[in-house]
Amino acid sequence: MRTAGRAQKARAALVRTSGGPFLIEDIEVASPRDDEVLVRMVGTGVCHTDIVFRDGAFPMPMPVVLGHEGAGIVEAVGAKVNRVKPGDHVVLSFNSCHTCTNCLKSEPAYCYNFYPYNVAGSRASDGSSALSKGPEMLHGEFFGQSSFATYAMAHEANTVPIAHDLPLEIMGPLGCGVQTGAGATINSLKMKPGDSLAVFGGGGVGLSAMLGALAVGAGPVIVVEPNRARGVLALELGAAHVVNPTETPDVLARIKELSGGGVTYAVDTTGIPAVIGVAVEVLLHNGMLGLLGVPPPEATLPANLLSMLMRGVGVKYIVEGDSDPQEFIPRLAALYKAGKFPFDRLIKKFPFEKINEAARASETGEVIKPVLIF
Ligand SMILES: [Zn+2]
Ligand SMILES: [Zn+2]
Repeated sequence: MRTAGRAQKARAALVRTSGGPFLIEDIEVASPRDDEVLVRMVGTGVCHTDIVFRDGAFPMPMPVVLGHEGAGIVEAVGAKVNRVKPGDHVVLSFNSCHTCTNCLKSEPAYCYNFYPYNVAGSRASDGSSALSKGPEMLHGEFFGQSSFATYAMAHEANTVPIAHDLPLEIMGPLGCGVQTGAGATINSLKMKPGDSLAVFGGGGVGLSAMLGALAVGAGPVIVVEPNRARGVLALELGAAHVVNPTETPDVLARIKELSGGGVTYAVDTTGIPAVIGVAVEVLLHNGMLGLLGVPPPEATLPANLLSMLMRGVGVKYIVEGDSDPQEFIPRLAALYKAGKFPFDRLIKKFPFEKINEAARASETGEVIKPVLIF
């Protein structure tokens, strides 16, 4: 454990220019403020959102340290932190203000201050940063953590303690991508045994949605995915059927045929309007479609309202799987430990230094969920 007041030296993957590579450099991390938690990283997942922000699809001040699926060991805590102490094993999740109406209702994923607390690149309180390199301020606070670094500064609110007997280095994705998918089917759609599901897009979020449904005894699950390797994995993990849209002339008809007329629920992780149009139509009466994908900025909902009325179906954008991370991450970890939620099958490990390789493998779809190991 380090003494308070001294900056911690760290190695971080910096993005200095929009679309540029991750550059590994030496940085300093300040000692934690009252509500802050300094964490020594053990493993961090690479999520599509990191790549979106690296490439400037959303504005982000630079240089910045991204990374938002961190897992590690608490090194030091601020004066007012009670939830965790040095030595605790933790998963870092998204941050929230804990004071707005939705946070007070335990709906932190819909925090009114979600953007300043997660993607502004600096502390929501005063625009400062815990990260620097000599005289240069580095932007951080990405999802309240910036965990592409050997040490990350998180907050009490988004630091979730987990049991010491879990494999810490692979637990980071529970903080975002896995929680987003599994939370959609477990928390948002509240799937139960007997409910069927169609998953559009068999990446990390889509397959986590399937694993969540299967973990609570729901099914059958049909996965629509063009990548053959992902289709094979989906079947191994419990999908009843995989539909390859590049080889299937009428995906809607095929899903109806496989499901005997339609499914209770569907989730879309693609954000592609034409796909969403099919997803609305596969639903049975009183069905619900959960939207999880990032759409093009100009996209609108391509659904026929009368068709929706006739079946009484709904469509809802779901953020972070409606999760309260403090409750949901330990629950997913317990399901994993019980052998009911094998999300580790989605993961491939990369040494931290190979972060650019890991990001490329995620972009090409070759790896579903890269995790950087420190
Ligand atoms: Zn809030
Ligand atoms: Zn994410």
